[in-house]
Amino acid sequence: MTSEPSAEGLLRAVLDLVATRPLGPWPEELHSLDRLGPLAPAPGSGSPSDLDDVRGLRDRLAPLVLDPDPGSAPAALSALAREFALAPVVDALGGPVRHESPDPRTVARVAEVLVPGLMHAWAAGLLSRVHACGADNCETPFMDTSHRANRHYCSDRCSTRMRVRRHRARAPQI
Ligand SMILES: [Zn+2]
Repeated sequence: MTSEPSAEGLLRAVLDLVATRPLGPWPEELHSLDRLGPLAPAPGSGSPSDLDDVRGLRDRLAPLVLDPDPGSAPAALSALAREFALAPVVDALGGPVRHESPDPRTVARVAEVLVPGLMHAWAAGLLSRVHACGADNCETPFMDTSHRANRHYCSDRCSTRMRVRRHRARAPQI
């Protein structure tokens, strides 16, 4: 990683991961750590237990990004940082601050990036931009970065789906 990812970029990475959770009629979508993209330390090399660990981390991060409880979420996020013994590291004058965990597991590589990333997102006040998709049968979290902050759906797909549904509802019944 050459430059420090923005708080917004990191929050997006957390949201992408959180969106793979099984929820209601939607099945588990995290079947490979390749899905983590730049966060996957060794693409294609995740063992089944690595996958389970990352799913576990994801399920603990989810409530901290979706409508976090101000009474308990800060302690829960701080506890995650302690659990992975995350320590700030700098490699060069003027270089970015990154976090390292002595834990050798793959999940720790993901936590090194996402736990401080979520802390930055909280500090930057970005959480007020996170919403759950308003489409029927979809609760995918997304970050509304539109200028007017008026997005209702997670994706063009959901937005189109709902437009079609509204159109059908208006059409005369034959
Ligand atoms: Zn959606």
